[in-house]
Amino acid sequence: MSWWTTDETHDPARTSWVEGTDTHPDFPIQNLPLGLFAPAGQEARIGIAIGAMILDLRACVAAGLLEADIHRPCQSDSVNSLLGLASGHRRALRRRISALLSDPAYRDLVSPLLHRASDCTLHVPARIGDYTDFYVGIHHANNVGKQFRPDNPLLPNYKYVPIGYHGRASSICASGVPLRRPSGQSRTPDRDTPSFGPTARLDYELELGVWIGAGNALGAPIPIREAGDHIAGFCLLNDWSARDFQAWEYQPLGPFLAKNFHSTISPWIVTAEAMAPFRIAQPARPEGDPAPLPHLLDTADQNHGALALTLEAHLLTARMREEGLAAIRLSHGPATSMYWTVQQIVAHHASNGCNLNPGDLLGTGTISAPTRDGFGSLMELSVGGREPITLPNGETRSFVEDGDEIILRARAHADGFVAIGLGECRAMVMPAH
Ligand code: MN
Repeated sequence: MSWWTTDETHDPARTSWVEGTDTHPDFPIQNLPLGLFAPAGQEARIGIAIGAMILDLRACVAAGLLEADIHRPCQSDSVNSLLGLASGHRRALRRRISALLSDPAYRDLVSPLLHRASDCTLHVPARIGDYTDFYVGIHHANNVGKQFRPDNPLLPNYKYVPIGYHGRASSICASGVPLRRPSGQSRTPDRDTPSFGPTARLDYELELGVWIGAGNALGAPIPIREAGDHIAGFCLLNDWSARDFQAWEYQPLGPFLAKNFHSTISPWIVTAEAMAPFRIAQPARPEGDPAPLPHLLDTADQNHGALALTLEAHLLTARMREEGLAAIRLSHGPATSMYWTVQQIVAHHASNGCNLNPGDLLGTGTISAPTRDGFGSLMELSVGGREPITLPNGETRSFVEDGDEIILRARAHADGFVAIGLGECRAMVMPAH
């Protein structure tokens, strides 16, 4: 079984007895993402989203519906051990849940184990041991590089190394948790010395999150041909960034306080198994670009390693909310704007023997399309704040303002399959303390 192999759970003809599921934009029965949810007044437990409902896995165990070998991971208060299972076990769980939710014979037994998602709190699903953010959106790297270094936007290592930095796991929050505008050091171009205060250039970054499944032992690299077996699933990631702090602090060691004050993720883990139909070839590199070094090059990865996902960013301002207006889409673009595949990111990360663990989170870096309608941050859309964008109600934005909500979404699509979504990644900005 490869991570791009489909089975009966992907059958577009399969439907669910759970009402409204077959037309749900994100969570039809072909998706079945994993999450950690708490019904009102109750403790958190693992669930699987199905349409507008959540199936309680712990309750499935108690009802005797699941195989004994996955009872413990399904009863846990985080998804870490489920993610750490060999993909065959996760695939077996997926087949079982798909059968339970599609076969009407199970309806009476399983219906009481469902919760309405809107009545539940969705948590960060895993205890995230480590978080690493990459920079593989090449158009983003070009756009941002031009602002910092007009003559030399991409540094010479970019086409050899999936560039990344170690981030901060403690401040990763689930969708819906508001963020506080951070304070920090910055220096405006007209001054010789920095000052400390609320960021004036708060930005979002539209990224894909990659959940690590089975880990590797310290000192034992993950070969590129096995890297897909270590990826458990995907989410959306908004890597909130303070551009003024970033410009002042990023040399020589890279991002620090400009990035670690809050990151927002969509709470559902869309599994690698669910994404199998949406695996496509990595686009060929432009003429003249170097080939990846051998430890990052694998034929199967090049043929199946990219994702047929479209990512979108939306904005809802305080005034739009007051006026009863809907959020507006700031941009949309394909995940194929990644210069490296997610497998190459994983293989690179472990290539020196660094150990990854189940529930670790990797960010791809901002995914921007080549043209403005696909730019994945305001820094790009407003050209560093020099060309503010005008919203339909007449407001303008260079950067994110207090009361603004940024909403990320993504959908996977492939001919002959039912499209699935990653769910919503949303957060509102609160004023600085
Ligand atoms: Mn980032």
